Amino acid sequence: MQTTHTKNPFDFLGLDPVLLRAVYGLGYEAPTPIQKEAIPAILSGRDVIGTAQTGSGKTAAFLLPILQRLMKQSPGRTRALVLSPTRELAAQIEVALRGLAKGTRIRGHAVYGGVGMSPQEHALRAGVDVVVATPGRLLDHMSRRNVDFRGLQVLVLDEADRMLDMGFLPDVRRIVDALPRERQTLLFSATMAPEIETLSRTIMRNPVRISVSPPHRPPSTIRHEVYPVPQHLKTSLLVRLLGREDMMSVLVFVRTKRRADRVARQVGQAGFDVARIHGDRSQSQRETALAGFRSGRHQVLIATDVAARGIDVEGISHVVNYDVPTVPTDYVHRVGRTARMEATGEAITFVTPEDEGDLRGIERALGKPIPRVTLPDFDYRAPPPPKVRGHEGPRPRRPSHGEGRSDRRRYRPFRP
Ligand code: AMP
Repeated sequence: MQTTHTKNPFDFLGLDPVLLRAVYGLGYEAPTPIQKEAIPAILSGRDVIGTAQTGSGKTAAFLLPILQRLMKQSPGRTRALVLSPTRELAAQIEVALRGLAKGTRIRGHAVYGGVGMSPQEHALRAGVDVVVATPGRLLDHMSRRNVDFRGLQVLVLDEADRMLDMGFLPDVRRIVDALPRERQTLLFSATMAPEIETLSRTIMRNPVRISVSPPHRPPSTIRHEVYPVPQHLKTSLLVRLLGREDMMSVLVFVRTKRRADRVARQVGQAGFDVARIHGDRSQSQRETALAGFRSGRHQVLIATDVAARGIDVEGISHVVNYDVPTVPTDYVHRVGRTARMEATGEAITFVTPEDEGDLRGIERALGKPIPRVTLPDFDYRAPPPPKVRGHEGPRPRRPSHGEGRSDRRRYRPFRP
């Protein structure tokens, strides 16, 4: 007798029923474009270069075929390594792995700095199946001979463009040099810089190239807006915007850790629920902040680029660039945090007259100008408040854009 059941589009990718059950369990109804293309290619054993952004579903695109390969073998050796630029991303990949590996005996462990070495050492010495690691901490473990990669079969470089931006490529090369040559290598990057092309040529074999969105372009469902504003009124403008009803879940990017602290304090004083993450905060502080933002307890999360790398929060309604990112790829990464999985979102960028050059670079990368918005009832000519000396601790050695210097001296009437 024949039973009829509706096929899920995931059924056609060649995945094991155990993995399909995990995928359905997570509520995925259909593979994303990168999953549709990358999963069969990776299952066939080919090296793959995937040009895909965070939010595209790339993590499952590489984890599912890796799991399929490993689940057929006996456990007890480290057989896959995923390199990630940040600890947040590494932790997220570990969580995704746990979800997708449900029903298999495959285990993964994330290895990153800022937390104790010994639980990581224990997992590595036990030969955990999949190691997810940031380069620096992994090199520490490698120099202590805590990890044995002789049985390694698959290497993934995730967010390779970010590795480049953060100066990790030499570390990545040192790690790759210590791995078996006979392996499958997968590389994912939002954009393909020449340095990454060069790296891929030296560490990959005849890779299949998969690109799911044009490089340098964020999802088309995002609305972009530029708000011209003098430096000293950025926080007032932010507070004004946060009062809008549609500002449900707002991720604010600032350039420096100090500024993240200051803006968070001021936004909190204005009565908003706000959390902050940056490189000087401990892992547990970052996790608490992120959990509070994810649950909706905090309406606003203030972050620096590096700390926000890999943040995966559904339902971010707005990304605010309190400071204009100096490189267009950062803009793409930042605004990609909203409008995830084809939802709509809004990207707001504060621009001072000094930022116009950087903004033009971003507009070129987007392929279109971004509309300028001014609020009719906002006082753009309000003078800067008198600066209280020493209020924010020592000044930075190289001040940027107004801060750290006297805003008062630099003040000139502003015309949006
Ligand atoms: P990533 O781009 O890998 O960071 O994934 C972004 C988000 O999409 C994560 O929260 C995943 O759990 C989710 N996701 C991945 N694949 C799918 C899918 N096929 N359907 C729905 N959500 C997905």
